Amino acid sequence: MINEHSVTKILNQLFKYSNVFLMVRHDRTLPMPGFSTIEQDMYGRNIPTIIINLSLIPNDDNILAHVLSHEWGHHVSKHLCSEFKPPTQSQYIGYIANQQQKENEADLYAAKFIKKYNYNKAPIIEFFRKNPVDIHNRINILTNLTI
Ligand SMILES: [Zn+2]
Repeated sequence: MINEHSVTKILNQLFKYSNVFLMVRHDRTLPMPGFSTIEQDMYGRNIPTIIINLSLIPNDDNILAHVLSHEWGHHVSKHLCSEFKPPTQSQYIGYIANQQQKENEADLYAAKFIKKYNYNKAPIIEFFRKNPVDIHNRINILTNLTI
């Protein structure tokens, strides 16, 4: 499993890159590698939070960097609101399109971060091939990034 030093190194890079601080915590029961949410502290204040499940992430800093920077991208792009209301049936198609756009934005943020800090795209793309979520968009964004 990925060691804590790798997590700290990547979080420091993301902090420098974005000038934003986010809470990150590990949860072995999370059914996916990473997830973004807004949690409340004991005073009821909103705390933008990233939850990761390191047991679902291969021991590879490149992949961890993508998972963390993708979730970071959701927060920096203000994709989350503290009160989520499920869409009604008539809102559903628009809702799905909007979700896809958010995923693409987060992937683009991750791709720029990966490039800036010279992470290796090959193991990341290999990971997506084995865990096909939005696989075409993701590989496209990583491969065609020219900025
Ligand atoms: Zn996402």
